[in-house]
Amino acid sequence: MRTDTGQVFKLEDYRPSDFSIPQTGLTFRLSPDATRVTAVLTIERRDGAAASAPLVLDGDGLLLKRIAIDGRELAPADYLATPDQLTILKPPARFELLLETEIAPASNEALMGLYRSSNVYCTQCEAEGFRRITYFLDRPDILSVYTVRIEARLDEAPLLLSNGNPVESGALADGWHYARWHDPFPKPSYLFALVAGNLGQVADSFVTMSGRKVELGIYVEPGKEGLAGYAMDALKRSMQWDEQAFGREYDLDVFNIVAVSDFNMGAMENKGLNIFNDKYVLADRETATDADFANIEAIIAHEYFHNWTGNRITCRDWFQLCLKEGLTVFRDHEFSADQRSRAVKRIAEVRTLRAHQFPEDQGPLAHPVRPRRYREINNFYTATVYEKGSEVVRMIRTILGAETFRAGMDLYFERHDGEAATIEDFLKVFEDVSGRDLSQFALWYHQAGTPNLTVSSTHNPATREFTLEIEQSVPPTPSESRKRLMHIPLAFGLVGAGGEPVAYGGVEGAAVEDGVIHIRKRRHMVRFSGVDERPAVSLNRGFSAPITLSVEQKADDQFFLAGHDSDAFARWQAFNTLLTDALIAAFRQILGGAKPAFSARLTGLAGKIAGDETLEPAYRALALSLPGEADIARDIGRTIDPDAIFAARETLALAIARANQDAFANLYGRLADDGRFSPDAANAGRRALRNILLDYLSLLPGGASLAARHFEAATNMTDRAAALTVLAHRHDGSPEAVKALAGFEARYGADPLVMDKWFQIQASVPGPRTVDTVRELIGHASFSMANPNRVRSLVGTFSSANQTGFHRADGEGYRFFAQTVLEVEKRNPQVAARLATALRSWRSLEPGRQAKAREALLAIAGAENLSADLRDIVERTLA
Ligand SMILES: [Zn+2]
Repeated sequence: MRTDTGQVFKLEDYRPSDFSIPQTGLTFRLSPDATRVTAVLTIERRDGAAASAPLVLDGDGLLLKRIAIDGRELAPADYLATPDQLTILKPPARFELLLETEIAPASNEALMGLYRSSNVYCTQCEAEGFRRITYFLDRPDILSVYTVRIEARLDEAPLLLSNGNPVESGALADGWHYARWHDPFPKPSYLFALVAGNLGQVADSFVTMSGRKVELGIYVEPGKEGLAGYAMDALKRSMQWDEQAFGREYDLDVFNIVAVSDFNMGAMENKGLNIFNDKYVLADRETATDADFANIEAIIAHEYFHNWTGNRITCRDWFQLCLKEGLTVFRDHEFSADQRSRAVKRIAEVRTLRAHQFPEDQGPLAHPVRPRRYREINNFYTATVYEKGSEVVRMIRTILGAETFRAGMDLYFERHDGEAATIEDFLKVFEDVSGRDLSQFALWYHQAGTPNLTVSSTHNPATREFTLEIEQSVPPTPSESRKRLMHIPLAFGLVGAGGEPVAYGGVEGAAVEDGVIHIRKRRHMVRFSGVDERPAVSLNRGFSAPITLSVEQKADDQFFLAGHDSDAFARWQAFNTLLTDALIAAFRQILGGAKPAFSARLTGLAGKIAGDETLEPAYRALALSLPGEADIARDIGRTIDPDAIFAARETLALAIARANQDAFANLYGRLADDGRFSPDAANAGRRALRNILLDYLSLLPGGASLAARHFEAATNMTDRAAALTVLAHRHDGSPEAVKALAGFEARYGADPLVMDKWFQIQASVPGPRTVDTVRELIGHASFSMANPNRVRSLVGTFSSANQTGFHRADGEGYRFFAQTVLEVEKRNPQVAARLATALRSWRSLEPGRQAKAREALLAIAGAENLSADLRDIVERTLA
């Protein structure tokens, strides 16, 4: 484990390396406890580098066994080797460096570098894992052509995979065999991959737009081949979509995906050999929910799309992480929108952004989409870099229009193919194709914080003028107290009394193009002339900018827009705002000792939306799903009491259920499953609507037995998991809940991925008792502290998705959390650091909980030998 050195890396300190490594040859002789790695590196001093410059290679916990230059063994005086660095004092201008290191994959529990997962050798090198395999210039701007030879015992690892194309394979003495792979595309070390083991294969092929045949393989645990069909289908659709939407064709003869059960992240885009967390590959109706299917489709696409945005054009340094991630998330969002419902997808994206990125931007861990400094790069794989980074790309398209945006992307691929690029390179192509100045827009990359627009409107019937007064502000964030004014593309619509768009004569006060107001100054008075009647104003349509809005708007207008806005996102937003406002009012009433009440108009509108057959079922399901407790907390902002928020939310749910009892029961019956199953969006939408109706109906008398029947009758995991959630959360401890939990466990006890759902559902049961349940489940036979999926399902769900349990008033949730984070950290610092971000909003809690949360953070900070990953998160959170 790398302990903290306190070193801060700064963007302005970037300079190119003095050396390049055009060729990298690697030979692995695999053994669980002593794998021998022989690296043969062709190294050249760059033009202009000082002749006296030593060569300093990165390492991490390495043991050097042999070192030679151009076939000559080095004397001890010629170099300096520590586990974390290798310095060659007087290297020649061009030479071949031979290095032998020995590593122990079986005891690598950090899951970075070369490790073993269920007896399969696999690698994870992004960001800085390659230096745990051999000494190297382990930075993304060192592009090298790799040739890899893997040797292993045939009985232990019949399958040997690496990046690129297979070259040769054969038998060796004593039951060993080998395979050689060559990747013709120069790549950074973080994209290196190796897999060796005994795996089942699903094979298929794809013919690219220029007619080349690509062999496709998905490798899974033997016996699970039947669960990889959906992933293969998603892969082929992704390959085709990238050709159509971006003109990007695949470039190697083979494309392989391997699913492993121990993985720190979702998946990894290694060139030609993607390695996946198995939860994003394996699925069928019996084991996966509709959300799982959608995630598999999106992540398969995401990693595949990296082949161009990330691999062919990579990042110059880790500060540019959003160059590949924000852009690739944008691409996978577009893919999913084309495969499914665009409106529903957009709403889901925005919900995710608000749930994960907004709190990050509003708390101590806030950072720009392109950070300027970091202590531990592993902690910057954040919602800001990924999700907000995607929103920034979306705004470029909104500002330029789809056609010019595509021309800019074409130029980006043409100009930077084979390079390690920067955000400046990326913005420049769009300036070049459009002739626009994007320098103010570039602040979206450089400045942290969620901008807010305050909007009010006036209508003057005498002058027939409608005026929007818009003011922008960007709240301060850590180390950025003063903010510059941003360019915010605000999509809008003026909506007439019949729901139709209102025509206007002219507009002044801001640039307005194609339904978008370009906010660039602190204040804009946007005047629309020739407007006879006061329109309702629909703002930030399609969520054109990742901002918050404070709109002075009459409830009448909100209700009107929730029923009539022609922009599906804005329509959903209007209803969601009404719900949020009602929940916040109820929260205040509860704190004041009053009983909250909700208007019949609001609960009636919920019923109307549920039954509106002109709307897609998936859209109706999203509209009916109340703002989450964390969303409400974020909108309240400070002195949060999670118990009062929970009570407010439950009371509103009950009011909606009571007001629409018959209509909901009726619709629930009509949506009944006919036993056939398809994971497509339309079918998933019907299930989502029926399951949210179940959620409401379960609050009424007879709710537990209704949910129990739903559970028993389920013919797929979506319905089964939904019913189990309703039973466990709403009827905790009831005979129905106890029976269903036991039945689920008996049925799926041998399937770890499905048991993750069982852990999740129990870890998110609201209320003070859950911390004890979670403690107990840590001892369950299916749980393992060494497996990231298990830890995230149980401990991660408890700390990030159980507001009343985690934030228990006596601090017991936090104490359990601090102990567990430290225990996870002993094995896997990255997973521990990610868990620890659950307390990032601790300052917005009410004083009692705030003090207890701080104690827990201090307990973590005070532990001995803290890893760089965890110390970085905890110290920034406390700062
Ligand atoms: Zn990615």
